[in-house]
Amino acid sequence: MFGFLRARRREKHLAANPIPDALWREAERLPLFIGLNDDERRRLREQAAWFLHEKTITPLQGLEIDDQAKVILAAQAVLPILNLGFDAYDDWHEVVLYPAQFVSRDRYTDPIGVVHEGEQVLAGQARPEGPILLSWLDVAESAWLDGWNVVIHELAHKLDMRDSAGHANGRPPLHKGMDAAAWKRVFSDAYHHLNRLADSGRYSPIDLYAAETPAECFAVFSEYFFETPHAVADHYPAVYEQLKQFYKQDPLLRLPRVRYRPAYEPVEFGPIWPTPAPLGYDA
Ligand SMILES: [Zn+2]
Repeated sequence: MFGFLRARRREKHLAANPIPDALWREAERLPLFIGLNDDERRRLREQAAWFLHEKTITPLQGLEIDDQAKVILAAQAVLPILNLGFDAYDDWHEVVLYPAQFVSRDRYTDPIGVVHEGEQVLAGQARPEGPILLSWLDVAESAWLDGWNVVIHELAHKLDMRDSAGHANGRPPLHKGMDAAAWKRVFSDAYHHLNRLADSGRYSPIDLYAAETPAECFAVFSEYFFETPHAVADHYPAVYEQLKQFYKQDPLLRLPRVRYRPAYEPVEFGPIWPTPAPLGYDA
């Protein structure tokens, strides 16, 4: 009953407060949204409008953010939940926006287990107790299909935290019918493979930040899944399959094998990649 009333309230609000055409046109032409069909675009626009209604956006350090910028942020933010439903974000309420990369003074543990009390410069952070922190400059640079998207990265952490009291562990709550053992095995294999690449100094098709922790592995693969799905499917097909089941999307079907730069200039990237290294090849 409560869910029904909530859905009614949402529908009513969306009907009365759509994202204005001009603002939406500018957002949906970003390369990240290439290949989405009309129905997907309509739902993305609705979810983005609901995102802007439900989440407080708090600019800091003198940042002035206009409605266009908010729509560009919201459209990227809801792409991962396009087929999951808005409730997947119902456990947090605020986006804190910095003008550029910011300094975090949290205690953190590095990959070899050393705890640091010092400062980190970050493009984004998903806070276990609530807000998402983002650098606006990096949000604006995120939608170029280069495998790097700070919005998707931090929201993947948020999805990951849903079943573990704010602790991201690389395993978000899986849907009915998904195989938890397969998820664990596939991500563990990929994580260890990336770690071996990192240790050996060999080329990696995936940003080796994914080798930091299992949580970063899931978040970084999520960025690639939505931006350069061929990179995941070519090199880590089992990871692609798990992410396809989790996000209920198949970006391989909609995105070209190209990388975009801010001039909207497509660049072929298939040929520059070396032959995929089979998992465990240097074990
Ligand atoms: Zn992260």
